[in-house]
Amino acid sequence: MSAPRLEIDLDRLHHNAATLVRRLAGQGIAVTAVGKACLGRPEIVRTWLAAGVTSIGDSRIETLEGLARGGLTAPTLLIRTPMLSQVEQVVAHATSSCHSEPLVIQALAAAAQRQHRRHGVLLMVELGDRREGLLPRDLEAIARLTLSLPSLRLVGIGTNLGCQHGVAPDAANMAELSALADALEARLGIRLELVSGGNSANLPWLAQGGAPGRINHLRLGEALLLGREPLARCPIPGLHTDAFSLVGELIEVKRKPSRPRGEQGLTSFLATAAPPAPDRGLRQRGLLALGVQDVDPADLEPPAGVSIVGASSDHLVVEAERPLRVGEELRFQPGYSALLRAMTSPFVHKHCLKG
Ligand SMILES: *Cc1c(COP(=O)(O)O)cnc(C)c1O
Repeated sequence: MSAPRLEIDLDRLHHNAATLVRRLAGQGIAVTAVGKACLGRPEIVRTWLAAGVTSIGDSRIETLEGLARGGLTAPTLLIRTPMLSQVEQVVAHATSSCHSEPLVIQALAAAAQRQHRRHGVLLMVELGDRREGLLPRDLEAIARLTLSLPSLRLVGIGTNLGCQHGVAPDAANMAELSALADALEARLGIRLELVSGGNSANLPWLAQGGAPGRINHLRLGEALLLGREPLARCPIPGLHTDAFSLVGELIEVKRKPSRPRGEQGLTSFLATAAPPAPDRGLRQRGLLALGVQDVDPADLEPPAGVSIVGASSDHLVVEAERPLRVGEELRFQPGYSALLRAMTSPFVHKHCLKG
């Protein structure tokens, strides 16, 4: 089999999705599966739908377009506010999209009208993580704007925490979202279909007994893929954390002095000079045909007895106590950032396993 390759265990992914869907359904919460870290890989998306997720989310319209062209019929949600230059594509290939800019909403409405479609709008509110979203005081005006545009449908409101500054969903910010939903419905005489509380970072809050209140929807990526919550990277009980493994091949194995020789400047990927390396004598070093172009080496867990010493564009350098040999394959566990990059690298073969 060719290396490097990402092995994708679809049975484990099915288990993760079915488990979370069932757990959250008990709290009245539906799941949109977010496939951005796996580039919306069709085998994974089909696995998620079979496990009961209600829709597929992605931040890139190109991915949703590819899925639609491949025959996906489930509802889709674009989880990043559209570029003005892409509103036609968004209306053509996504059921709904997330929003925080009146200008984009107006352009989207015009595109939907031209295409004789009705497009769903989820309004994103900023509740502390300082990435996307309207300030709460601007929500009513933009909701009114959305309601005034007949080619759009206001499907709900949502928020996103955890991604930019690691702000945790908690009783206070989640209650704030519920209160905003209640107030908006009362002021406008409408009923919101979705109150979308966030992403995988919301799971610890719910697991610790947080009251969902009005929240009836989450957009989950990392928890489904890696079985972990993103804020402390803790495994979620009952889920597989090893649905993905990255297999690399050793192309050189030699004993070399651990200490560099010669005057040292910057390295390929460090903006500051590396600290002087301690002299640990002659060490067995292995080089894998795998590099920064294929993976985030800092987010890779090596197999037992192996440690990662460094990486450049196309070499990953390891040390091991046990003997290594050229041609041997080593199996690493990727974190989210390593997974995202491995999925994106055209040099990493993707290999789905099932049954
Ligand atoms: C990436 C993303 C998600 C999914 O986040 P996970 O931590 O992978 O669950 C949900 N919503 C938005 C807006 C995102 O950008």
